[in-house]
Amino acid sequence: MPQLFAQVILPLSLHDSFTYKVPASLESEIAPGKRVIVQFGKKKLYAALVISLSDKKPEDMEVKEVQEILDEHPIIFPVNFKLWQWLAQYYCCTLGDVFRAALPTGLKLESKSKLFLTGIDEPVTLSPKEELIIRQLQEDVSQLSDIEHKLGTEFSYQALRSLMDKKVVYAEEKISSKYKPKTEAFVKLHSSISSEKILQEKADALKRAKKQQELLFHFCTVTNVFSDDQINEIPKKELLAGTAFSGNLVKELVKKKLLVERQKQVSRLEEEKIEQVSINLLNKYQAKAYEEIKTTFETQQVTLIHGITASGKTEIYIHLIDEMIKTGRQALYLVPEIALTTQIVKRLKNVFGNKVGIYHSKLNSQERVEIWEKVLQFNNNPKEGYQVVLGARSAVFLPFSKLGIVIVDEEHENSFKQFDPAPRYNARDMAVVLGYQNDAKVLLGSATPSFESYYNALKNKYGLVNLMKRHSEMELPEILVADIKRAYKRKQMRSFLTPELFEMMETALEKNEQIILFQNRRGYSPYVECFSCGDIPKCRNCDVSLTYHKYKRRLSCHYCGFSYQLPDKCDNCGSPELKTRGYGTEKIEDELKPLFRNARIARMDLDTTQSKNAFAKIVKNLEERKTDILIGTQMVTKGLDFEHVSVVGILNADNLINFPDFRAHERAYQLISQVAGRAGRKHKQGKVVIQTSQPDHPLIELIREQNYQATLKEQFEERQLFKYPPFFRLVKIVVKHKNVQSVDRAANQLAQHLRKHKQLVVMGPEYPLISRIQLWHHKEIWIKIDRKLNLDLVKKEITAAVKTVRHLPSNSSCVFNIDVDPS
Ligand code: ADP
Ligand code: ZN
Ligand code: ZN
Repeated sequence: MPQLFAQVILPLSLHDSFTYKVPASLESEIAPGKRVIVQFGKKKLYAALVISLSDKKPEDMEVKEVQEILDEHPIIFPVNFKLWQWLAQYYCCTLGDVFRAALPTGLKLESKSKLFLTGIDEPVTLSPKEELIIRQLQEDVSQLSDIEHKLGTEFSYQALRSLMDKKVVYAEEKISSKYKPKTEAFVKLHSSISSEKILQEKADALKRAKKQQELLFHFCTVTNVFSDDQINEIPKKELLAGTAFSGNLVKELVKKKLLVERQKQVSRLEEEKIEQVSINLLNKYQAKAYEEIKTTFETQQVTLIHGITASGKTEIYIHLIDEMIKTGRQALYLVPEIALTTQIVKRLKNVFGNKVGIYHSKLNSQERVEIWEKVLQFNNNPKEGYQVVLGARSAVFLPFSKLGIVIVDEEHENSFKQFDPAPRYNARDMAVVLGYQNDAKVLLGSATPSFESYYNALKNKYGLVNLMKRHSEMELPEILVADIKRAYKRKQMRSFLTPELFEMMETALEKNEQIILFQNRRGYSPYVECFSCGDIPKCRNCDVSLTYHKYKRRLSCHYCGFSYQLPDKCDNCGSPELKTRGYGTEKIEDELKPLFRNARIARMDLDTTQSKNAFAKIVKNLEERKTDILIGTQMVTKGLDFEHVSVVGILNADNLINFPDFRAHERAYQLISQVAGRAGRKHKQGKVVIQTSQPDHPLIELIREQNYQATLKEQFEERQLFKYPPFFRLVKIVVKHKNVQSVDRAANQLAQHLRKHKQLVVMGPEYPLISRIQLWHHKEIWIKIDRKLNLDLVKKEITAAVKTVRHLPSNSSCVFNIDVDPS
């Protein structure tokens, strides 16, 4: 037999793949899609992924051996790997980058991974090698590389893998103080009660404690004790459910050594019992749109549904998924992270029950691995695996094998785009690729489609379906514009409220209706200013002013997290008169209180939603009408569905429309329309007030009319003229260095190289709006690429230019990030 070689990818952003020798003992087991342990660099071991096998020896290279195979079955399918390859090529990154982004930490095991004991103390049988690892963990050695080092040749990855399979050990990328495994109390019979006879004696001894005796009998009944189908251990909750017994009573029996109670780790994913309800009937407009979508799917892989807020797009998605899964195929439903609310999760679980998996970044690595495995499992064991996945952007990487449909809701959202690190992918665009690669249908949906997607629909690349009626004949809200400047001049402002908005809020509150106020800035004041010298405190690491958070009395940087106590006097001139400037959500909440004394006010922003359930709680309070006024940032725009919100206020539209970005108008239109869509969703028409100091701005007029088509047309003209998407493609290159001169030099060199390619429109280098973040100076080059050019070729030229400049000795500590289709 010739020597077998394996091409593997490592979780490193170096090259695409590396070759290792396969020892004869592993030949029968090795296969593409399985993970193996290999040595890379001096001593480091990695879990690498086999992508192919061959018997060709690589030339001029010393080849090391594969050390162990980790998986019994491949953890990705060939079709999933096709997506990885596409991604690496399209976004100009390495397969190693993709590997890192695609797999949950628990599956990629890097030397820097941290290992933890789950706390399960089940009497699992452990092999000697497994015991050694456990002992290290018990001694608080948690970093994988340290454990490897300490155990030397005694360390075995297979043993580690086995411990992870048994759920005794789990891996995390870094210690997250917030994460604690979820545990639940379980109860079982004390081991000294080994026969029915002993049980009877012990029970008799409880004659004087009737309640305890009853509980013991109850326990025996529900667990079928000493019968063939005996349940060894049951959740305490379950034991007590529907009884009058208390938890204390259990403790009494534990004290008497009749029962044993212990905390056991449970999966957060463990299915609660869900009441499956039948699917809603579509109304006639929805039914028509549904039929149209199916018609377009006959000839198109991808269709865009432009459906206004509350038209019932979600209902249509559910019908499409339902139909698809009946044919035995899988469905992926992508939403922006922040829209993954309990509302949507509940709606899906109601209809699809345990077929649904939820995948997002708030899950810990162990939970992610569980979902990964259940999606994988669907291939062989459809009953046990997940057929439907609702997820945020990283769900595109899950190992689907029979994908039939991909839904991308709120497809215009830029949170589908990953900024950092590479791969800087857009999950919406990847969904389209997934569609082609898996022969699955793709439905993009939005009330305000991205101009790129709409362009593709107009060009007949995508099908297009409209749904312009709200469900149950609800009307779209009425939008009014209030002039902030004029109200200031006439001294009619009440704090930050124009008289128009103020009065509307009063009326709404009188009628017991709810209000949402939108402000795009969190914290108390976006900046503070010295009244004497005009000095504005800035971050020492970044080129931004510090935001004042009153609750913590701190100035903090929203880019790097640097913060310090608000000083008593100006750092520059010593004057004690530091003034807060501008309105953040915290200040708005503060100033609303005296204006509406009886109203119950809540705030939804990054600061109030840190803890795990905070977001859900704010939503719940609003649903249950325990909140009258909700103030929030972007977070309030995402698909929340409330019945009694009658007034929505956009507190300041100016900073949205004046933002220096070619997408500013598109974004402002989308954002304001989405917030407005929260008004008057049921029973009555809502009202929206846009406060602005530019009431005559053409965009404000278009938004007021909710004229998507005209906004699009106006923007298309501008973008064509100035060579922006969708007419041109963009590639952004960010050059970073801690030293300004170095960044300048490297960026200039790169621009020079790029300009040699005459067909490229090269802009810059320029400093971005925030030119220093965490001590790194940034400079950007934007490349505009004609759609007629061969994109692959152009990207090769760009990558080559970056490589040349990066390899100049003077640029060795420069960072170059390539961002294709920046958002
Ligand atoms: P969209 O996704 O377009 O914003 P939703 O699907 O969330 O709209 O629908 C808005 C509200 O109307 C939801 O509460 C939804 O349950 C309800 N709804 C929409 N269509 C139907 C239907 N056909 N039957 C029952 N309720 C519906
Ligand atoms: Zn000063
Ligand atoms: Zn900073």
